[in-house]
Amino acid sequence: MNKSFAKPVSTFDVANIRADFPILARTVHGKPLVFLDSAASAQKPRQVIDAVTKVYSQEYANVHRGAYYLSETATANYEAAREKVRAFINARSVSEIVFTKGATEAINLVAATYGRAFLKAGDEIVLTAVEHHSNIVPWQLLRDATGCVLRIAPVSPDGSIDIAEFAKVIGPKTKLVAIAHVSNVLGTVLPVREIADLAHAVGAKIMLDGCQGIVHRHVDVQDLGCDFYVFSGHKLYGPTGIGVLWARAALLDAMPPYQGGGDMIDTVTFAKTTWAQPPAKFEAGTPPIVQAIGLGAAIDYLNSLDRIAVAEHEDALLRYAMTRLAQIPGVRLIGTAPHKAAVQSFVMEGAHPHDLATVLDRHGVCVRAGHHCAQPLMEALGVTATTRASFGLYNTMEEVDALANALVRAQEVLL
Ligand code: PMP
Repeated sequence: MNKSFAKPVSTFDVANIRADFPILARTVHGKPLVFLDSAASAQKPRQVIDAVTKVYSQEYANVHRGAYYLSETATANYEAAREKVRAFINARSVSEIVFTKGATEAINLVAATYGRAFLKAGDEIVLTAVEHHSNIVPWQLLRDATGCVLRIAPVSPDGSIDIAEFAKVIGPKTKLVAIAHVSNVLGTVLPVREIADLAHAVGAKIMLDGCQGIVHRHVDVQDLGCDFYVFSGHKLYGPTGIGVLWARAALLDAMPPYQGGGDMIDTVTFAKTTWAQPPAKFEAGTPPIVQAIGLGAAIDYLNSLDRIAVAEHEDALLRYAMTRLAQIPGVRLIGTAPHKAAVQSFVMEGAHPHDLATVLDRHGVCVRAGHHCAQPLMEALGVTATTRASFGLYNTMEEVDALANALVRAQEVLL
């Protein structure tokens, strides 16, 4: 192909950023690694890796229990991570920050505690057609247990959520709205503030699945107007095994515990047990101590950057990728909503997404292929699977070129 492309010049110092991520220097199949799967899980900067190593090598002990120096240090570091999360999302209090093992567990926690305590047969939960299975299946389990009803707001062909259509599925029976902040398949940024207003107008609560939103948008839970916000640390450049449930204090106070065990109690007798105050009430057992501290380090890392410049860089990558991919004959973009974050799905005529991803891998390009844990969305869009490129703060315009060039080469092999 001899077309010339107007490659945007980013003023963001991506070379410096990349130097922070050791894995980006490696090769795959003898080719430079082009990592375009950050929506599944992001790579980790040295600052996070070092923070985790430091805990294990110098500051490790269980938390909340020991009266000795190391345990006190571990407790202080674990609780400091909670404060970092609080500040990052502008929650009112650290007691509103519950550590979980991930977003999936956080959603299950809300369904199992808030859902079982406050929803009954006939009550309605509104989801959208773009949800990840993690934000569908826990509500189905709740439906099966309580007889509540799931209502689904449709997705437009371009991947948008139309607020007028959304308003049609919300009503006096709605008790909870549970929706993605940003779609992991389409990159659509949902109109969450407007939807929160619709939910509150009928007296419903709203939970945002912020797995992708927290990465690409500034999140202020008070500004967003939501009641619950959940996310995973590993997509935010932090470790696996750590997630966050933020909920308004009054809700956490009213919710029964999720799991029973050590640390979540006030007093225990065989006759009766009383609960600790939130967040401890929801953190039974030894928590993910090191992972939480690693998440705190990831937040420190992000705070050390100009996050507006990061967002502009990611948006520029997305726009360039959309332009380049759309120019490849036979490639169709899936997800072209006006408000999008750095995720792009596409299909290539005549090539199965899995085959495409396998061929791209031989060029060192890591993309995801399949239903992306969103089978109902695939059905709504009339596709069985897509290929998805997703961008992180460390990606470059040259990597978008590498993707586009590898796709053209893949066409030669597959078609
Ligand atoms: N929701 C969305 C929008 C996601 O992208 C993901 C991860 N792909 C999840 C939920 C589940 O996150 P985790 O597997 O980290 O619990």
